[in-house]
Amino acid sequence: MKIGVLAIQGDFAEHISMLTRLGVETAEVRLPAHLAGLDGLIMPGGESTTIGKLVVDFDLLEPLCAFGKTHAIWGTCAGAIFLSKDALRNQPLLGLMDITVQRNGFGRQVDSFEADLVIPELGEGGPYHAIFIRAPIIESVHADAKIFSTLSDGRIVAAIQGHLLATSFHPELTDDTRFHEFFLSLAR
Ligand code: GLN
Repeated sequence: MKIGVLAIQGDFAEHISMLTRLGVETAEVRLPAHLAGLDGLIMPGGESTTIGKLVVDFDLLEPLCAFGKTHAIWGTCAGAIFLSKDALRNQPLLGLMDITVQRNGFGRQVDSFEADLVIPELGEGGPYHAIFIRAPIIESVHADAKIFSTLSDGRIVAAIQGHLLATSFHPELTDDTRFHEFFLSLAR
């Protein structure tokens, strides 16, 4: 099992250390050639507009789209925005997931927060403690995309579509490895 992490902007190092903790081989992805031999890809949090611009500059947009048609991709926060079909504004997107996202949907940096989520698919270990930093809200899921988790008030914060996973929050910033383990099950 070898998992790539898009490593052009954002907190990719935290994803790599989480995967390393789980004994998974990793690769930093900056060029199309780096996708060869990967079983899955994680796109980190950061700034989706910057990630999009650099992905275009590095000629990665098409290769990432093609990779995601046949392989697992998980986007956290900015990565989730980048996976979406619609971010309600004009910016480069992979457009692979049938979700509409509202960037900074909970407000500004000072409105960052943490919340416990109930996610049965993660198995035992109780509620999942999620960290939201200038997070997007998943406004709606369409077609084959499904809601994976909501806040207690019903706002959608995670979605799944086959082997594609989007989370508004940052599992790489916690000590809880369950989300990364779940993603590995999608990549297998
Ligand atoms: N607000 C950022 C964006 O629009 C995402 C923030 C994050 O990844 N923590 O891309």
